[in-house]
Amino acid sequence: MEVTTVEISCHTCGVTWWLSKCHDAELRRTHAEFYCPGGHRQYYPSPTKAEKKDVELTNLRGRVAQQSRNIRSMHDERDKLARSHAALRGQITKLRKQRARANSEIDRFRAELEAVHVLLCAVAGMPLPAPDRRNLCRSIEACLRFDPEAEGDHA
Ligand SMILES: [Zn+2]
Repeated sequence: MEVTTVEISCHTCGVTWWLSKCHDAELRRTHAEFYCPGGHRQYYPSPTKAEKKDVELTNLRGRVAQQSRNIRSMHDERDKLARSHAALRGQITKLRKQRARANSEIDRFRAELEAVHVLLCAVAGMPLPAPDRRNLCRSIEACLRFDPEAEGDHA
């Protein structure tokens, strides 16, 4: 088994020795006394007020840094949304143009159909009925069926 060690120097005689990392962490946590190989008393002092303030300050700095990162990522998100908004706006404009083209195509087709209807009525000898755009196709069918010999009502 491999044990991670920590190097320690005695503050009195300067001798160097090693503790397992685990044991060292326990000594730091409990501030318990221990001894150098030469018998000098050692211990990890508990943090002073200044050290505690330092830790607090470090924590606060970390929180500020985290907040800054959050704000930056929100800005990134906002920019991304703005880009996708612009892209969608472009798509909507493109679709509107397509719809306008389709509508003018439909209008052109309807005009052609109306011209055909007028022509059919003339050929059949039928009076041109009042224009009914909605039933243009039905009117054209009626024209095709119209018999000028018979008494028929064009509906
Ligand atoms: Zn010592």
